[in-house]
Parts: sequence; C-alpha cells; structure tokens
Amino acid sequence: MTEYDAIVYDLDGTLVHLDVDWANVADCCAAILRAREHDPTGTDIWEMRELAAENGLLDRLDGAIAEFEREGARSARRLALADALPHSVPVGVCSLNCEAACRIALQLHGLDGHVDTVVGRNSHETVKPDPGPLLQAVEALGARPERSLFVGDSDSDEEAARAAGLDFEWVEDRV
Ligand SMILES: [Mg+2]
Repeated sequence: MTEYDAIVYDLDGTLVHLDVDWANVADCCAAILRAREHDPTGTDIWEMRELAAENGLLDRLDGAIAEFEREGARSARRLALADALPHSVPVGVCSLNCEAACRIALQLHGLDGHVDTVVGRNSHETVKPDPGPLLQAVEALGARPERSLFVGDSDSDEEAARAAGLDFEWVEDRV
C-alpha cells in the first residue's frame, strides 16, 4: 500500500546497477570531441554532452554513450529496492541513461512488466535535474506531481523532484 498515486524510480543505483565503466565512456567521448578539434579537458560526461550539443555533435556522442549503456545493461546487477515492485499504483522510471538501456536492464530482471513508463535521456529534450523528464513520466502515469513520489540516489534526483513538485525519498530510506 502506498499513500501516493504513482511512484517513479531512478534506474542506475536505485533499481539496478549498470555494468558500465564510466571512465571508459568519458575517454571515448573525449576522443570524439578531440577528433573534431574541441577540447574536453576537465569536463565530465554531462559537460561533454553540452559541449557536443553546442557543436552539433550531441547525436554522435549520445550514440557512443548509449552503446556502452546497452552493453552494461545486459549484465546489470539487480539492487534490493527492485524487490519493492510491483506496486498497487502505476510505476515509472526516469533515468539519465538511454531508454533502450533502461528497458534492457528492466527486462533482464523481470521488472519490465511492473513499470508502466520509461523516460530516458533521449525520451525528453532535457535531462535531470531539469524537472521536464520527471513531469513527462508522471503525466504518462496519469498522476499529478504533488501526489507522486520520486525515489533516487543522487543530488540531481532530489533536485529534479523538488523542481517538479514531487516528494523525494533516497533509495537507502526505502530498502
Ligand atoms: Mg542513479
């Protein structure tokens, strides 16, 4: 039983752990930018995405990141909170990872049937902590933000929940 009309989860670090070597991904992204004469020194993957977007390379960069994510999703580890599913109310996933990787990991652990909507990095024009993706998930679940809960494992998740008007809980407080 839950006091909410809908529950949305972050994916990586919340329901599953994607088997992705992010240092590798960052190297790959940096190489793509350097090959086009853009200097990614001192930036993380998400800042490299911004640099790529400014220079017409976002699709190329996201495609490369998504390849790592899909691969890592195939050997994703199930986390304890996944046992909370299914719920008696609609459930969504709102993730920074590409939608395909989210679906692969959910399916791998038999969770896909318990999740009614998946909003990934490429499912919305903005990413968390912008509230847009979370609001898209809540709308798809037919719920209102103020009657919904977002569960995540990062400051960015908490910030997105606050901006979208959802209650927020840390993953460690739910298990
Ligand atoms: Mg996470």
